[in-house]
Amino acid sequence: MCGIFAYYGQEKKSVSMVIEGLKKLEYRGYDSWGVAAANQDDFFIKKAVGKIGSYKYKESDFPESKMIMGHSRWATHGGVTEINAHPHSTENNEIVLIHNGIIDNYLDIKKNLVTKGHIFISETDTEVLAHLIQEYYEGDLAAAVQKSLKEIKGRYAILVMAKDNNKLIAARRGSPLIIGVNKKNNEYFIASDVPAFLQHTKSVIYLDDNQMAQIDKSGIIFKDLETDKQVEKRVIEVSWNNEEAEKGKHKHFMIKEILEQKNTLKKAIDQDDQQIIKIADEIKKAFGTYLVGCGTAGKVCLTGTYFFAEIAKKHINFEFGSEFPYFKDFIREGSLLIVVSQSGETADTLEAIEAAKSKGAKILAIVNVESSTMAREADHTLLLNAGPEKAVASTKATTAQLAILYLLSHACNGGITEGKQILVRTAAEINDMLNPRYEEHISKLAEKIKSVESMYIIGRGSNYPMALEAAIKLQEVSYIHAEGFAGGELKHGPIALITKGTPCIALVANDETKSDIISNATEIKSRGGYIIGIAPENNEVFDYWIKVPDVGTASPIVNIIPIQILAYQLAVLRQNNPDMPRNLAKSVTVK
Ligand code: GLU
Repeated sequence: MCGIFAYYGQEKKSVSMVIEGLKKLEYRGYDSWGVAAANQDDFFIKKAVGKIGSYKYKESDFPESKMIMGHSRWATHGGVTEINAHPHSTENNEIVLIHNGIIDNYLDIKKNLVTKGHIFISETDTEVLAHLIQEYYEGDLAAAVQKSLKEIKGRYAILVMAKDNNKLIAARRGSPLIIGVNKKNNEYFIASDVPAFLQHTKSVIYLDDNQMAQIDKSGIIFKDLETDKQVEKRVIEVSWNNEEAEKGKHKHFMIKEILEQKNTLKKAIDQDDQQIIKIADEIKKAFGTYLVGCGTAGKVCLTGTYFFAEIAKKHINFEFGSEFPYFKDFIREGSLLIVVSQSGETADTLEAIEAAKSKGAKILAIVNVESSTMAREADHTLLLNAGPEKAVASTKATTAQLAILYLLSHACNGGITEGKQILVRTAAEINDMLNPRYEEHISKLAEKIKSVESMYIIGRGSNYPMALEAAIKLQEVSYIHAEGFAGGELKHGPIALITKGTPCIALVANDETKSDIISNATEIKSRGGYIIGIAPENNEVFDYWIKVPDVGTASPIVNIIPIQILAYQLAVLRQNNPDMPRNLAKSVTVK
């Protein structure tokens, strides 16, 4: 959450470069934004409420600057106001700071600083850290930052500058910070995510937890915040390219990423067989395996438990990242945690990793972002290879995650080849399915239901978690109240919600669940519900049928795609921005 982008170097149009970089990170937070640029002996500071994407400026609005930092906020502490927007500074801009994360003990620190005469103007937790650094600052900014961070509880990625110092300090614990490097020009880009600076450099250094970087005219140095020792960091070349991170001819990232599923499934299963088999062996011998994820990745994990049960005849536990720590007493040496996350930075899942590791468990990370925190914390990593996913609502990463869990479940049963064959066929079917006629067919439904108040989605077996995921997708971008249920659960309560014309989507697979889910749809229809069937074959109970290919046990992968398209179309029809839904942000790096 929150986008950070900073620049250090000789580029003349550096302030606008930072603003453009921030625009690329807006998917991470977009309630307000701000920049601070070192300018002679002071800072030029500009803050505003709203989306930076709509900010219009002229080059002449800004001073030339060699050191600039910017932030797009996703408020956690304090309302969405210009004062609460970052950067935060102390009196006379002595210390200027931006922050991603939450400072848990900010009230205690604030109380103490107030007694020392510090005056606070915002409601944020962040401002406290600027004042604390000021309190300790005696000309060595890095030392003051380091001392202050020792008192901080919580997660952070911060950038700090001081008025008389000409240094840019970066530090992190629990929130991402990546440094793009152009050593030849002594030029550095610091961002919360790689796509922000891909057009400038593909050489990156990943700052690790409890590390600090100091950039000045003599270059960059890194320090371990705990041991106080200097550390050497490796420059890594990233494989993503700038085109992948752009919208291209599409109106929104969300539809671009939905359509990219023509190829992403194939890329997801392009894994090293030996590594998959090795991981499958670990799953087989593990003393308890837990699948852990949040939001959509959580629903993917729950689907994974069905894949393992059905295909590998293996019981695997599932828990949301935020709930997992309450189960940590069941973890011991020999347990395995499989974490699923697009960004590899989800704070709740990182906490689950911490809890599991403290008990001696091994970690397998299934993530999209190579060298993300999860990838680096894990004993094994499987990459989704989906390319950057920028729309807040996950689509292509979701199906890639499903495909990897599906493949692993086959590998656990000694059937990796069979698993791959099914997935290759599924990928080909998705390629055929995603054509303009298909989108048009779904758009007729979107037009029909665009003004409803509520809708429900039912599924059974591995399509039950997909019904939950379908509800998330519709809620996120269309803002229509949507809920997913296990088909059999309906009669135990939710059926009371069905009235004449209530849209209800049935996710149908051509397997043992088929007749039961059709019966559940019939029960809804008998109470006036409008039945939308997502199924390989039509059925008389459906009022509207969206055909999906019959891919056997891989059905959740194809069944969720028409929902993604429907959610996107409803968002557009209802004049919502599907890429930046209200109150949400991509990559939830706060608890
Ligand atoms: N906790 C800080 C705030 O509310 C930072 C939030 C963020 O990560 O954007 O201002």
